[in-house]
Amino acid sequence: MNVTELARKLKVPTKELRIKLPQLGFDIGPRAIKIPDVQARRVMDKWHEFIEEEKRRQARLAKEKEEAKEPTEAEVKEAKKEVVIPSSLTVRQLAEKLNLSPVRVINELMKNGVIATINKQIDFDTAAIVTEELGFSAKEMTDEEREQILAKESQKELAKLLEEKDKSKLKSRPPVIVVMGHVDHGKTALLDAIRKTNVVATEAGAITQHIGAYQVEKKGRMITFIDTPGHRAFRSMRARGGQVADIAILVIAADDKIQPQTLEAVKIIQQEKLSFIVAINKIDKPEADVERVKKGLAEIKLVPEDWGGKVICVPISAKTGQGMEDLLDMILLVASLEKGKLLANPDRPAVGIIIEAHLDKGEGPVATVLVQTGTLKVGDWISVSEAYGKIRALKDFQGKRIDESLPGMPARIQGLKGLAQVGDILKVVEYKKGIKKKIKKANLKYQRKVFADRLKVVKERKAEAKDLNIIIRADVLGSLEAIGEALEELEYPEINLNIIKKGLGNIVESDILMAEAGQAWVIGFDVNISPATKELAREKNVEVTTYDVIYKLLDDVKKKMDSLLGTETIRTDMGQVEVLAIFRKEAKSIIIGGRVLKGKVAKGSKIEVLREKEIITEGFLEQLQINKKDVAEATEGSECGIKFIGKPVIEIGDILQIYKEEEKKKKLKI
Ligand code: GDP
Repeated sequence: MNVTELARKLKVPTKELRIKLPQLGFDIGPRAIKIPDVQARRVMDKWHEFIEEEKRRQARLAKEKEEAKEPTEAEVKEAKKEVVIPSSLTVRQLAEKLNLSPVRVINELMKNGVIATINKQIDFDTAAIVTEELGFSAKEMTDEEREQILAKESQKELAKLLEEKDKSKLKSRPPVIVVMGHVDHGKTALLDAIRKTNVVATEAGAITQHIGAYQVEKKGRMITFIDTPGHRAFRSMRARGGQVADIAILVIAADDKIQPQTLEAVKIIQQEKLSFIVAINKIDKPEADVERVKKGLAEIKLVPEDWGGKVICVPISAKTGQGMEDLLDMILLVASLEKGKLLANPDRPAVGIIIEAHLDKGEGPVATVLVQTGTLKVGDWISVSEAYGKIRALKDFQGKRIDESLPGMPARIQGLKGLAQVGDILKVVEYKKGIKKKIKKANLKYQRKVFADRLKVVKERKAEAKDLNIIIRADVLGSLEAIGEALEELEYPEINLNIIKKGLGNIVESDILMAEAGQAWVIGFDVNISPATKELAREKNVEVTTYDVIYKLLDDVKKKMDSLLGTETIRTDMGQVEVLAIFRKEAKSIIIGGRVLKGKVAKGSKIEVLREKEIITEGFLEQLQINKKDVAEATEGSECGIKFIGKPVIEIGDILQIYKEEEKKKKLKI
């Protein structure tokens, strides 16, 4: 057999086989070309043995190496099951996470000196100790993880809320459009152009309101545009589980190319499985090149329709308006393809998503909701996230008062008690007896949470400083804002002034309860407090003060800050005495004679005894004499007798440092 053929059979290079043959005990020269078949068979047997042996050796080596190695931190963690724990949870929740009975957890807590019932909230640190002791490893939940969990929860909640069993009740609703794309490619210009040309202005004239969304009519059909461009708003909505938009417009400037944010938008569109249209903008510019953009799209596998793909591209100019009508037509076309999805039941209590929210100077907390299903009406009781309220007024995007808002329609709502957040789910709740109480409780819980979060932030900022927590109530928003602003100006490094709540109207019980929880001072301005609330404040030891003049209020807040600072000891050096004679030594006192070197000496002062510039002892000047007569003071140059109370270690030649110490109230450094 040829050596090369043998090598092929053994699946080794010929050269290697030639080298190995003598090592395996075959007397075959490195230049041999042919070997007898018998020998070749023996080589093959031997070779397989060799390979097996080699494998075993390698495995042995690997095992030895593995055993010698210290387990890494990750491996130790792996061995101990890692449990992710939020910053606070109940004993029951912890037990569920650990898959243990709550009793075990309670016992373990007890061993660590924590007495807790099953529903008690414990913080991460406490939970981590018992988790570790129960043989797990504990990891604190990151903000991102918490957000993901919340998003999942609210996605589930929303899906459940939007579920419609009776399909016959479904009616079509306007499509909701979101505009995305790279910065400066013309998202805002596009939204403005559509708004200007397609919104029928009301008698009031110009449309000045920007409430986060608007509607246009095209061919008798409504289209809703979310007018906060950018991905961040979209992200935060998504983080809370709300898929608000049905169709995306991806804006790409024809004088530019696909940019990072374009890609990011594409990613979101694909993740959300959104239908989309590409608007190739700025075609009025001489350097515009639509084909270049299309080529770029094809390169990222978004092949344009006229290139044989599926992506709809509409060349437009937001500046001149060219192509804008085509774009709207395309939106309607895509919407008609999506018809099956654009359905909602208007005959039910509304569910919506908050798309914009802020504190308005005149109106208080306002928010824009995009109704997803049902009809939202003035007078409805609503819950938004954890806060409740009652719809006092509804306005459309043109600022016109409306009585109700239908699915797919944005509406500005007034009547929320607290500030909503973008992405919050709004739902209409049934009015039942006792709802007000429930609302109060829920609002309180929510405010406590907000308070705790806010306090945490402030604490981190000025950990050393003292806290002054304040709840303000005022009769009108103007005063409330003015007081809030004035207080914010009282910034001192020594004090954290935390306004934990601002409210309009009289001081109510929930203020007192919140003040108790947050150890806050309740300040009212031009408002009243009912006797029952006053009584509650007394009971809970909550300080409540009302004012009708702002400067008086501010003055008192300053005084309060001063009082929080406590006292400080101020030392004033008075003079020095040289010891010239020792008259009498007793156990705890000594009488000396000396001369005032500088300054003065007074009865009742404190004394430091200096020897070679070192303080050797300290004491108190009880008695002072000049010419054997008691005096209150002795001035520079005079000779005097001094009774020193303290260790009688003074010797001739020592210097007495005379000083005064006063306790003074600390003052704010202004
Ligand atoms: P955004 O960052 O995507 O919202 O972009 P903008 O809408 O703010 O537009 C960026 C710049 O491009 C602005 O200076 C616009 O005036 C300009 N721009 C937007 N659309 C057009 C267009 O169609 N033609 C021209 N010539 N300029 C445009």
